[in-house]
Amino acid sequence: MQITEIYKSLQGESTYAGLPCVFVRLTGCNLRCSWCDSEYTFTGGRRMASEDVFNEVVRLSPGRGLVEITGGEPMLQERELVPFTQRLLDAGYKVLMETSGERPLSRVPKGVVKIVDVKCPHSGEPDTFDLGNLHALLPHDEIKFVISDRTDYEFARHFVARHELAGKVNAVLFSPAFRKEAYGTRDASHCLLDPQDLAEWMVTDGVPARLGLQMHKFIWDPATKGV
Ligand code: SF4
Repeated sequence: MQITEIYKSLQGESTYAGLPCVFVRLTGCNLRCSWCDSEYTFTGGRRMASEDVFNEVVRLSPGRGLVEITGGEPMLQERELVPFTQRLLDAGYKVLMETSGERPLSRVPKGVVKIVDVKCPHSGEPDTFDLGNLHALLPHDEIKFVISDRTDYEFARHFVARHELAGKVNAVLFSPAFRKEAYGTRDASHCLLDPQDLAEWMVTDGVPARLGLQMHKFIWDPATKGV
């Protein structure tokens, strides 16, 4: 697999936020979201055998715990990734996989929790989610929308309602977009959309979603990598 980095930190997003987690960040992405904070994954990385990646996960978190497969877009390396995630599951790890859902997800092992980031209109990559992946969603999966303004919010709200997502997955997450060049202070001033506005819209509309903040950007400097 082509790997950008493997490290242990706290999970910053999803319903697993706050838990210690090993991150396996794969190199390469076929999208170019306007607020992407992972552009350093687009190229480079190093070629590693699946066995070596597995051993590094075990070294960082011996025998158990949470592992997130992320990128980039991990499903670009599906051929090696699918058996790798199955091996992690067989070894007793809880495995999360963050994906845009642009690639088919039907072959992801059922034990993997898919966290699917459906791109909103102002992400720069609208309409990239493969609607066929709605059939691959399982009750333990999570759907995330990164939202920069009212247009993105309305898209997310209607998408959730139209596809009845609240009844299909474990959680629907609405998260304010974060400035990709943010650094220094660890506060909500770096959000492109004020979390207070998003919270008030969600309460007013009774949206069946939970507000998600990228916890790691409030713990460490937002520019810090490998956390
Ligand atoms: S899908 Fe993720 S890694 Fe790829 S450009 Fe968008 S935010 Fe960045």
